[in-house]
Amino acid sequence: MQTVPIDPFDAPLLRNIHQITLPTPFPVGPVHTYLMRGDPLTLIDVGPQTPAALAALQAGLAGEGVALRDIERVLITHAHVDHYGLIGAVAAASGAEVWAHPLAQPMIEGWPAYQVAYDQFWLELLLAAGVPAGLAQRTAGLYQRMQQLIGHAPVTRLLDEGDVISLAGAHWQVLHCPGHADSLICLYQPDDRLFLGNDHLLAHISSNALVGPPPPGERVRRRPLVDYWASLCRVYDMEIALVIPGHGDAVADVRSLVKSRFQFYERRLARLLQELRRGPQSVWQLVEAIFRRLDETDTYLAVSEVLGHLDVLENKRLVRLQADDAGIWRYSLC
Ligand SMILES: [Zn+2]
Repeated sequence: MQTVPIDPFDAPLLRNIHQITLPTPFPVGPVHTYLMRGDPLTLIDVGPQTPAALAALQAGLAGEGVALRDIERVLITHAHVDHYGLIGAVAAASGAEVWAHPLAQPMIEGWPAYQVAYDQFWLELLLAAGVPAGLAQRTAGLYQRMQQLIGHAPVTRLLDEGDVISLAGAHWQVLHCPGHADSLICLYQPDDRLFLGNDHLLAHISSNALVGPPPPGERVRRRPLVDYWASLCRVYDMEIALVIPGHGDAVADVRSLVKSRFQFYERRLARLLQELRRGPQSVWQLVEAIFRRLDETDTYLAVSEVLGHLDVLENKRLVRLQADDAGIWRYSLC
């Protein structure tokens, strides 16, 4: 697989795109935001709400001769804390418009009902997954602790599949690519075949398809890895010269990367089927069979990942789910 730094001379359009990298307190490492020169002056993603990220953002902008107050529009690619946490501070300092997908709106605006639902969703899901009660409580509490890394602002325009927006002096197509997050959008510039991919496709790690509560107005949780699979297929079929990412290096050879991701998922699906040959098992039993020693953050990611793969197997009718008398989900082979 070929990964490349963003070279400002590869495509003229790249001269209007400036990567500003901010620290995060998460295992994923630093996050990239992008200053897009043009009318309006736009920032893509803002980083988590930490003093270090804010200082790095201000320094990065200053290096381009721009102050926070100059930003006219912020585009949030998806509602994950490392990408939108600073939105309250940035919107307050600049008065910028805030554009995002409708499914990101409850998080960016901080709808109280949605936050309560999120808390309850995770605790119930972890208990149904068979996670021991103490660890489930601590893991569900992560969401609350995360709130200090998030500020809020009104979303002034909703972006969705099929929209075309002007950015950095060119026209970009908006693609809704659910999976890593329900609310995730990518932007594609067909003339230069540039793809602003944020966390949809990353060179150094496979993007986690994170399980979350049903969006407002829906009753059943979505199946993020099933969605992600479809979103990856879609990108595989596109003509893309360069993926400009949310973390790590840019990606030139998209098809090799997508193929390697599918191979990773296929191996994990095979491993789960192998474990289930021993009889019905809870999500947590499967997590413990695959991963070692987990802290709260790892528990959240590992349960999400295993559940995502079980969703795929269930969707293919290879496994079925039944709750036992204690309400714990047991998966078995069909
Ligand atoms: Zn993300």
